[in-house]
Amino acid sequence: MSITEVSHRSPWFDDVINDAIERTKRLLKLDDQYHVLFLQGGASMQFCMAPLNFLSDGRSADYINTGTWSTKAIKEAQIQNKPIKVVASSEDKNFCYIPNNISFNKDAAYVHLTSNNTIKGTQFESLPDTGQVPMVIDMSSDIMSKPLDMSNIGMIYAGAQKNIGPAGVCMVIIRQDLLDLSPDNIPTMLNYNTFANKNSMFNTPPCFAIYTIQLVIKWLEETIGGLEQMDVKNREKADLLYNFLDDSSFYRATADKGSRSLMNVTFRLPNEDLEKAFVAKAVENGMGGLKGHRSVGGCRASIYNATGLDAINDLVSLMKEFEKTSG
Ligand SMILES: *Cc1c(COP(=O)(O)O)cnc(C)c1O
Repeated sequence: MSITEVSHRSPWFDDVINDAIERTKRLLKLDDQYHVLFLQGGASMQFCMAPLNFLSDGRSADYINTGTWSTKAIKEAQIQNKPIKVVASSEDKNFCYIPNNISFNKDAAYVHLTSNNTIKGTQFESLPDTGQVPMVIDMSSDIMSKPLDMSNIGMIYAGAQKNIGPAGVCMVIIRQDLLDLSPDNIPTMLNYNTFANKNSMFNTPPCFAIYTIQLVIKWLEETIGGLEQMDVKNREKADLLYNFLDDSSFYRATADKGSRSLMNVTFRLPNEDLEKAFVAKAVENGMGGLKGHRSVGGCRASIYNATGLDAINDLVSLMKEFEKTSG
């Protein structure tokens, strides 16, 4: 029987899920307070689950708004009538930067932020100092792309499909003190404890997606050599592309220096017609996916862990050639 046939209640699948959990704990240096869970509903389900589980007793949470995904997370707390506060936002400049020097509320249950803004191409270079308040972080597009200081992180969540596996599963890493905040009177399938108490197997988990994550993080650990090494590679890739963009008068990076994403490099050409022509030319040359998100336009190179330096070199060559023929 293959992985798609065995029961999730078999020792074979136990080995898969437990290995994925152990490797995650080693890579991120998690201590015993943290539980690694695999949930369905994508990262989007977490927008609603976090406030539902952590704000049951009327407490408030602080949210940082850095783009499309943070805005959605804020909305899901607001429609539950949770008294959250948006303590910082970069909406004034179309989300092209990461706010700093934020003052947080000491009595907040958590601070929510999006560490990498997939659509706008910005990323927290370092996490903010939230004092005693734990952070809840949407890391969908930069989980396991670099080492992480877990000291003030209460929860991380990430739809697997960008950096660690296929679509269909969301990794949630949650600390025991946040699990303890969940009330009993919420739906079973929306309660983190349901999954923490059953090693993510209260009901049938997405076995094949979890198996693929196991393989990806095995590659991260054994072939790449861990998150420090992954970080070196990711920086090399992003530097190559940003340096080219900064030297160019034809292409222009859209995110502010100091806030730029190492995962999603967003850029513009002199006009939309040229952007269209560039994206088409890229597809002709075997480079798909360079069109910016439909909500912002422009171009975007998503250069997640799996993208090699060779691909960035090819892209830069193509960009140079396109400029020569159209500029
Ligand atoms: C893609 C993405 C999401 C949405 O993930 P789903 O799994 O599709 O719900 C949320 N947050 C960020 C930062 C993303 O990049």
